[in-house]
Amino acid sequence: MPRPISARIHPDAVRHNLQLVKRTGSSSHVWAVIKANAYGHGIERIYPALAEADGIALLDIDEAVRVRELGWKKPILLLEGIFEAGDVEIADRHRLTVTVHCDDQLAMLKTARPRERIDIQLKMNSGMNRLGYRPAQFERAWERASAIEAIGSIGLMSHFANADGGEIDWQIDQFEAATRNLLGTRSLSNSAAVLWHPRAHRDWVRPGTILYGASPTGCARHIEGFSLRAAMTLESRIIGVQTLEAGETIGYGRAFTADRTMRIGVVACGYADGYPRHAPTGTPVMVDGVRTRIVGRVSMDMLTVDLTPCASAGIGSAVELWGEHVKVDEVAEPSGTIGYELLCALARRVPVSIDAGVPGQPAEKEAHSA
Ligand SMILES: *Cc1c(COP(=O)(O)O)cnc(C)c1O
Repeated sequence: MPRPISARIHPDAVRHNLQLVKRTGSSSHVWAVIKANAYGHGIERIYPALAEADGIALLDIDEAVRVRELGWKKPILLLEGIFEAGDVEIADRHRLTVTVHCDDQLAMLKTARPRERIDIQLKMNSGMNRLGYRPAQFERAWERASAIEAIGSIGLMSHFANADGGEIDWQIDQFEAATRNLLGTRSLSNSAAVLWHPRAHRDWVRPGTILYGASPTGCARHIEGFSLRAAMTLESRIIGVQTLEAGETIGYGRAFTADRTMRIGVVACGYADGYPRHAPTGTPVMVDGVRTRIVGRVSMDMLTVDLTPCASAGIGSAVELWGEHVKVDEVAEPSGTIGYELLCALARRVPVSIDAGVPGQPAEKEAHSA
C-alpha cells in the first residue's frame, strides 16, 4: 500500500467559483487564469469546469497548446506574450492571443507572416513596474502596433500592485489618462479587484486564485463572505500515536514540550509533500472531522498533531491538511506565505485524484502525470 497521503481536486468547486466570479464581475468577460498548471491543480483536471469562461489565460506556450488540444475554441491569452520570434508561428497555428509589453515583442511581430492576424493585449505598466509600457509611451506603442500587418485586434491591459488591500485608484487614473483616445477592450482586474474593486472590472476580468478558492490576500478571513469553495483537498492519515508525559518533547529540535499528558498523532505528510516546513505549532489541521493543531516541527515525511480534542482518533484516522474545512490560507499565513504558493508547490510524489462530484461515490483514481 502506498503512503496514505493524497490530493483530491474538485472541478465542481472551480465551476462554482467561476459562476461566482461571473455574478460578482458585473458584465465583464472572464479570462480564467490557469498558469502554473492551474495553480498546481492540473490543467486537464479542472478543464471541464471552465466551460463558462470566455477565455483562458496562462504563461507557458506549451500549456496553451495543451488547452487547444483539449478542444478549447475560445481565446487563449499568453500573459507574458512571446519570448522569441519562433513563438509567433506557434501562436498563429493555435490561434493564441499574445500580450505585448515591450518593443522587442513588437519587432518579432513586425517581421512575422502569420496565416491570420494575431490578436494582442497591449500591456501598460501603470505602477506595478514589472512588465509593460509606461503611460507616457503607451499611445505611441499602440500606434506602432496598429501599423503592424501581423497584428489583429488590440486590447488594453494593466495589472494592479495592491488590489488585495491597498488603494488602486492611482493606477486606474494612470491607465485612463493614457488610454483616453485609444480603441480596444480594457482588462485590469485580478482576483482581488474582482472581489473588492468594481470600478476596475471593465470588459475582461482575469481571476486566478479565487477560482481555486484561495484568498487573494493570503488571509482566509478576508474571503469568508464570498462562499468560495476549495478546489484542492490535501489529506492523509494518522500512522502512529504517542502518549507524552509532561516535560517530554516531540520531533526535531525538541521544538514542542508537553505541559501535561498528551496524545500525539503522527501524520503521513511532510515538507517533501508540499506542506510548509515553517508551519508553527498551532497551525490548524482536521483529524476525524475535528479541528486541532499541529505541534512541533514539520519533518520531511511526517508531522505531529495534538489529539487532545479528538478522543476517538487513532491509527488510520483521516486527516485534512487543507481543503474545505481547513483553508489553505490558514496553513499558509502562520507559515509566512500565501495559499497560492502552497497550491502551486504540491509535490509530485503526492498522488492526485479527481473528485467526480457525485456524493457517495469514491473519487476517480488517476495516475500522477503532472
Ligand atoms: C496571475 C495573474 C492574474 C491572476 O492573479 P490572481 O491574483 O491569482 O487573481 C491576472 N493577471 C495577470 C497578468 C497575472 O499574471
